[in-house]
Amino acid sequence: MRKTRKEEENKKNQKSNAQRLLDKIRRDNITKIEPVYNPKNGCTNCYPIVESFVDTNVKIAPLLEEISETGVLEKKLFDKMVLCPKCNSQNTTTRYNCPYCNSFNIEKSSLIEHIKCGYMDVEQNFRKGKNLVCPKCGGRLNRADFDYKKAGVWCKCNNCEKNFDIPTPSHFCRKCGSISTFEEINLKNVFSYRVKEIVDNGLSNSSFVNIAIKKFLTKEGWKVDSPANVNGKSGVEHSFDMVAFKGSKIKETMVIDIATSEEMVAEQPVVALFAKIFDVSPNKSLLIAIPKINDNGKKMAALYKIRIIEAKDQTQVINQLKEILKA
Ligand SMILES: [Zn+2]
Ligand SMILES: [Zn+2]
Ligand SMILES: [Zn+2]
Repeated sequence: MRKTRKEEENKKNQKSNAQRLLDKIRRDNITKIEPVYNPKNGCTNCYPIVESFVDTNVKIAPLLEEISETGVLEKKLFDKMVLCPKCNSQNTTTRYNCPYCNSFNIEKSSLIEHIKCGYMDVEQNFRKGKNLVCPKCGGRLNRADFDYKKAGVWCKCNNCEKNFDIPTPSHFCRKCGSISTFEEINLKNVFSYRVKEIVDNGLSNSSFVNIAIKKFLTKEGWKVDSPANVNGKSGVEHSFDMVAFKGSKIKETMVIDIATSEEMVAEQPVVALFAKIFDVSPNKSLLIAIPKINDNGKKMAALYKIRIIEAKDQTQVINQLKEILKA
């Protein structure tokens, strides 16, 4: 089968999207990642600083979410987008309407109080050219908070000519033209991210894998502890990167260790894991090798009945884990 250009591109770039983004953060000393509004897609997935570093088909918001779960980024609420209930567009505006006839054709002005005589009226009734003059006592109003104070807003409807101080808001969709009330609209959270700490490649990669496995197994009905300590038959306590249990009466136990290396994981993690499972006797033992493990490691794993997953990122790990659990 002929490979698409996308696949070739992905193959060339052996690093995961998250890894590439972390490299970029490290290299350019990026301290925060903020969304930028674009009229077509609103703020969803619109993080220009990130866009050029990940595959074009990647949804950026979930990627940033995933990275923030490792503790590298700290998530902060940046905005609430108003979504049109009819077409889901974020390209909406807020309208302030007359509470009597619902027209958005209103004039907004300020209420002014002349401190000296106590007269209060809308600003335009004080206007005399460039100056403000009290219509009641004829005194000049020169300094705000000294001669006069602004006493609030006052609106007049150009349609029904009624006055009011609090308008009724509604939302107009620029895309489909529908008008919605607050009850009808949907709100969508948009987040910004602060870079908390820069971790080295190996550590951050194994954190992504760890989180992804935990999520996947929990969804599949496993109870997951990570990291986890288990008492062996000898009474010695052993620690694993992850231990998962399933079933109520007779528990099925699966232990998982994650080993990372720049190029090739050696056989030591296999030996270490074997020493632990010899004492703990789990139903399944997995070693996740990122990105690969050497032949010696593979041979020993086969001998010790340790399943090996070789993967470059969390997506590959989960795909193989699915197959292993099916078997
Ligand atoms: Zn006055
Ligand atoms: Zn009106
Ligand atoms: Zn719409």
